[in-house]
Amino acid sequence: MREASPASLSMKKIHIIGGGLAGPEAALQAASLGCQVTLSEMRPLRSTEAHQTGDFAELVCSNSLKSESENTAPWLLKQEMRRAGSFLLQAADASAVPAGHALAVDRLQFSRRVADLIASQPRIEVRREEVTSLRQEDEVITVLASGPLTSSPLADELQSLTGAGHLAFYDSISPIVDAASIDMEKVYFAARWNKGSADYLNCPFTKEEYDAFLDALTNAKRVETHDSDKTWEPSSSDSPSLTPPAYFEGCLPIEELARRGRDTLRFGPMKPAGLTHPKTGRWPYAVVQLRQENLRADSYNLVGFQNHLRFGEQARVLRMIPGLEHAVFLRYGQIHRNTYIQAPALLQETLQLRSHPGILIAGQLSGVEGYTESIASGLLAGRFAAALAHGTRPVPAPRLTANGSLTHYITHAEAKRFQPANMTFDLLPPLEEELRRRARDKKERHRIQCERALAAWEQWLAATALHPR
Ligand SMILES: Cc1cc2nc3c(=O)[nH]c(=O)nc-3n(C[C@H](O)[C@H](O)[C@H](O)COP(=O)(O)OP(=O)(O)OC[C@H]3O[C@@H](n4cnc5c(N)ncnc54)[C@H](O)[C@@H]3O)c2cc1C
Repeated sequence: MREASPASLSMKKIHIIGGGLAGPEAALQAASLGCQVTLSEMRPLRSTEAHQTGDFAELVCSNSLKSESENTAPWLLKQEMRRAGSFLLQAADASAVPAGHALAVDRLQFSRRVADLIASQPRIEVRREEVTSLRQEDEVITVLASGPLTSSPLADELQSLTGAGHLAFYDSISPIVDAASIDMEKVYFAARWNKGSADYLNCPFTKEEYDAFLDALTNAKRVETHDSDKTWEPSSSDSPSLTPPAYFEGCLPIEELARRGRDTLRFGPMKPAGLTHPKTGRWPYAVVQLRQENLRADSYNLVGFQNHLRFGEQARVLRMIPGLEHAVFLRYGQIHRNTYIQAPALLQETLQLRSHPGILIAGQLSGVEGYTESIASGLLAGRFAAALAHGTRPVPAPRLTANGSLTHYITHAEAKRFQPANMTFDLLPPLEEELRRRARDKKERHRIQCERALAAWEQWLAATALHPR
């Protein structure tokens, strides 16, 4: 157990910018470790293109924090976070809605629980303000967690502080339909391969329906791209150079997938394999899956159906989906900006900027991708910031762990081609030859990787513990 140094008598304060996912987790971690925290959030005074509320921890798109299946990579990340006492995962677990093997949450309940946790922590002062400057004061540690939609003045400030540039590219939001407008005669509940509970609604296509849908999709009118949304290429110069949209491969718009080949959607988000239709006893030609949005089950998300079509065109084309002929859309798919730093060139494994070690970057802005990954990075940033505030040196998470591997990726990937990453097994160190040989199959290898990750994580937690109060 690490003793807080005598410096803790005049402990530095921590300023956290951003009340999304990473910021509140960082704030709650640091405050629970005895630090005085200010949490600045610009909403509701100023919003972003994607947020709809002034709430903390707003989930802007899907309501899923990914798989809970044992020995998968997202499960491992969440297990590590739970063992470290993640406050936002506690809130997520308490707000869970049925979603098969995934942890999906009622987003309003989730935000409410996070707000309650913050309100009940006397060491956190909340300020509703847009931060536009990153002036460094010696007595303050800053955690920048302003997310992929960081406001422009702050992004400019970060750009001038790092000198290395940041870049934006395109990500997308999937549409939501009103449950009452779904034709329940045409759709069916099923779990893929009959595994887990049948929480997803499936809209089945015949080949003819699929072909007609694909033609309509590829010919539909897209939203025009505005110059202000164009991608910034980092590193070449300080001034932005405009390039065509660069989509994140894990979140491609459906019309972009459709353009890549007539079967691409059928083997991607519209994959029918394992989804036996109860009326025919066979798999349909293709399906669209709908995932319950909230506990009341009064709205459903079109899984993987993010797109960049005009709203009128979306209504026309998506109503060609069997079962959605009369769909009422509560939200349309959208395209949005995504800002992140060139982490490999700028960050240490303790999430401190190399050039300004008093500033830590957390969440999507640091180059991790996804809700859970953003919360995880907030958890690390909160602990690192607390160590600095206590006058001790933060210790990076071990490479063997999911948290350590994700951080290792963002700080060691090739800087020029850097793209944000989700947690996957590729990021973990491979097993040694001897262990590989002894493992029966991939499942067994993953089990061993998870086991040793959790052991290394426990050791790190014990070795880096400050005194929680
Ligand atoms: C439109 C969109 C859809 C996404 N969909 C998914 C998805 O379905 N699944 C998934 O896993 N991930 C998704 N992501 C990626 C990512 O997981 C989320 O963006 C996640 O919310 C990132 O967490 P964060 O804490 O880094 O940023 P955020 O949650 O965005 O939090 C940042 C906060 O900082 C505030 N802020 C910004 N600038 C300032 C300023 N100058 N001063 C004060 N406050 C400021 C913002 O208002 C915001 O509340 C999506 C991202 C976007 C943009």
